[in-house]
Amino acid sequence: MDERLLTGTMKINEKNHLEIGGVDSLDLVEKYGTPIYVYDTLYIKEKARAFKAAFENRGVAAQVAYASKAFSCLAIYQLMAKENMSLDVVSGGELYTAIKADYPSEKIHFHGNNKSDAEIITGLDYRVGCFVVDNFHELNQLNKFTSIRKQMMNVLIRVTPGVEAHTHDYISTGQNDSKFGFDLTNGQAEMAIELTRKMPFINVMGLHSHIGSQIFETEGFNLAIDKVLNKAKEWKKQFDFKLKVLNVGGGFGIRYTTEDEPLPIETYINTIIDEVEQVSKELGLEMPEIWIEPGRSLVGDAGITLYQTGSQKEIPDVRNYLAVDGGMSDNIRPALYNAKYTGVFANRVSDQTEKMYSIAGKCCESGDMLIWDLPLPEAQTQDILAVFSTGAYGYAMANNYNRIPRPPVVFVENGVDFLAIERENYADLMRLERSLI
Ligand SMILES: *Cc1c(COP(=O)(O)O)cnc(C)c1O
Repeated sequence: MDERLLTGTMKINEKNHLEIGGVDSLDLVEKYGTPIYVYDTLYIKEKARAFKAAFENRGVAAQVAYASKAFSCLAIYQLMAKENMSLDVVSGGELYTAIKADYPSEKIHFHGNNKSDAEIITGLDYRVGCFVVDNFHELNQLNKFTSIRKQMMNVLIRVTPGVEAHTHDYISTGQNDSKFGFDLTNGQAEMAIELTRKMPFINVMGLHSHIGSQIFETEGFNLAIDKVLNKAKEWKKQFDFKLKVLNVGGGFGIRYTTEDEPLPIETYINTIIDEVEQVSKELGLEMPEIWIEPGRSLVGDAGITLYQTGSQKEIPDVRNYLAVDGGMSDNIRPALYNAKYTGVFANRVSDQTEKMYSIAGKCCESGDMLIWDLPLPEAQTQDILAVFSTGAYGYAMANNYNRIPRPPVVFVENGVDFLAIERENYADLMRLERSLI
């Protein structure tokens, strides 16, 4: 196998099994069954530290917020809090989880393009660090509630800089035709800034832009930074606007397959710092704090999913389907975005690959495929298939299609496993249901 897929603490042990966090993946399967999500928490911590260190090494004031929609649960919030990370939440549910995790409220950034009044009020009650305001409706509601309560709230204004990151369409958000943010070029962002001047309890700390996800180059960030800083300069003249914080979003790419070539964390951050420093200087602006919001790059390649193989369907001269005991219910990204993954048999990692298989899920959808054309050894029933880089938007997007219970989540570190989320059972699936008679 290609060693580049063995991220963090992953290795092939003396039994030819995949090992992660010092734990044999076959031991995890025996203990918890399949399918199962496994996270290498040491690797997550190393990445969190690398992001922070990249700013500290340059002496740049920064906040690194975990964009928790990538994988949201109590234990990961506790881990991120311990690492002194800031936290992005995008809904009342994520905020509730953060509150339950005792997340320091001043480190929470509240995102979302359609926050309900109840969500806004919960954010104000909990005194989150800032609201990332997405639209006029939210700005008005926030003004109303902060005025009634006479409570100051920090905000970042989310702008759409008109930059398209080179990535799949569905996960681009920086272009003009986006549901997110105030348009930077058509006067709407400017109008938002102007409105806030008459909002006594709204403290505009700065601007936010997020240009997309799974980005493998730095040009998109640089373009967005240029556009946003140029506007900040205009508004400085126009409204005496002061940009204290520039949030450049997340979207740093990871390796899903050997075709992906992500940049080192330091490269992304150094380029961003260079650009902000240089352009601020040119424009005569004070250097703002730089905030970033990595999600996928913190947890994505730290997670794997282990499945057991089952049925096969061989169509001579066409394709060999190999089915596993999960699918689009635990990883909808291939069906949703045509996302690519790769995998190995965790029970015999280094065995010679002999045959091409396409990995099917067990849901009643032809589109329920996890991987097309994966070379593997001749499959036996009950092989254990490890799919790499499922840590982001895997569990987070898991669902109960076909009444398939969601798999458990296990953290592994230093040879110790910790069950962070239990496996759902059938009774859980019916918990909210009432009988007709
Ligand atoms: C999704 C999102 C992120 C995180 O994106 P990743 O690709 O997971 O790093 C950050 N900021 C905003 C506003 C987002 O919507």
